[in-house]
Amino acid sequence: MPEMLIRGGRILDPSQGIDQVDDLWIADDQIAGLGPPAVSRHQNSTQPIVVDATGCIVSPGFVDLHCHLRDPGFEEKETIATGTRAAARGGFTTVCCMANTNPPIDSRAVVEYVQRTAHVTGVVRVLPVAAITRHMAGQELVEMGELAQAGVVAFSDDGRAVGSSRIMRYALEYSKMVDRPIAPHCEDRDLVSDGVMNEGPVATRLGLKGWPATGEEIEIARDILLAELTGGRLHLCHVTTAGGVELVRRAKEKGIRVTAEAMPHHLTLTDEWVAGKRWDGRSAEPYDTNTKVNPPLRAEADRRALVAGLRDGTIDCIATDHAPHTLVDKQCEYDFAAFGLSVFETALGALLRLVQAGDLDLPTLVSRLTVDPARAYRLPYGTLRPGAAADVAIFDPSAEWVVDPSQFASRGRNTPLAGQTLRGRVLVTIAGGRIVHLADDRRLAQTPSVREHVR
Ligand SMILES: [Zn+2]
Repeated sequence: MPEMLIRGGRILDPSQGIDQVDDLWIADDQIAGLGPPAVSRHQNSTQPIVVDATGCIVSPGFVDLHCHLRDPGFEEKETIATGTRAAARGGFTTVCCMANTNPPIDSRAVVEYVQRTAHVTGVVRVLPVAAITRHMAGQELVEMGELAQAGVVAFSDDGRAVGSSRIMRYALEYSKMVDRPIAPHCEDRDLVSDGVMNEGPVATRLGLKGWPATGEEIEIARDILLAELTGGRLHLCHVTTAGGVELVRRAKEKGIRVTAEAMPHHLTLTDEWVAGKRWDGRSAEPYDTNTKVNPPLRAEADRRALVAGLRDGTIDCIATDHAPHTLVDKQCEYDFAAFGLSVFETALGALLRLVQAGDLDLPTLVSRLTVDPARAYRLPYGTLRPGAAADVAIFDPSAEWVVDPSQFASRGRNTPLAGQTLRGRVLVTIAGGRIVHLADDRRLAQTPSVREHVR
């Protein structure tokens, strides 16, 4: 592989506090450095591949701590091949895939299946998350030591809550020994029951059963208390409510070991979208099942609190909860539709709305997508430090495009953003030194040598 030169972009690397227009060099699948080429880089190497990044942001590849690749068992929804291609299109170069596959990721054999399949068919780095309990049944812990040794980065029964406080306590105790976080999906099943959207005036108006904010906050509070009791490592999946943000803020003030993530849809959409609200002002039909997600889209006050929490670091990072489904899973009545959205390919464009609205600055947004998630799981990624894996996202923050799910690399076309115009588009994604995504863009057409190197 020849060297690569990413020329003239705005290099934004919060891990090193870098924000400057410069050249970025890649050699031997690693970040080589910034600036004019060192003499040594010229020796015994062919002409570098040049990527023109003028007018673009050059950032570390994004790190996603929470996605569903559906493989093994639900390949009609997504495979590791299609899911990682979708991730690459979104600028993600490291993705942690959740355990609710079939069979679930609760044994060494399934961990190895995911790792092997990702190695052969995947285009970005895939790090499996193991279940907390065997068969995700909530009864008995998995072999956490063995699974940590096999390479899982966290433990989560995501998709289901761990109802038993006793099991959660044990999991957090063991998290210290295996040095991996426990990442609960916080949902009091008894209280949430068959709720399908946020409990509140919109649900009442639409006649849909409510999923109350308190149903999430009860378990956040419980798990924070258990983290305090045990000293274990807690990472809260998809926080969505103002009360949840406040609980995390207080826990951090007390020095409890907790990190938390928020999702692009909860940061940018509200329960009014179930009633048909859209950004472009043209309202859609109500009851669009592509707005159905767990936890649900919340009220505007929750959304604002979540953004404020992201801004001040209470919420450590952004994760996608990319949850692809088939058309059949969604083409039914709202009550019966599957929960989940296809997120990889729209995440950045949606999140940039926060920057465009002045609610978040760009370096903070990039930080929450790169070094901050990496720190939460102690991964050596999300940085452009020399010697780090050459994971890079190059995006044009002002390029406008219309979301067309039929063009997704993901098998999941389940997004409420269909037809919406987003400003901000990933043009090039480099994972481990390989170009894994290259958008159709005239600037890149001028450097035809690049196209030959797309994996
Ligand atoms: Zn979940």
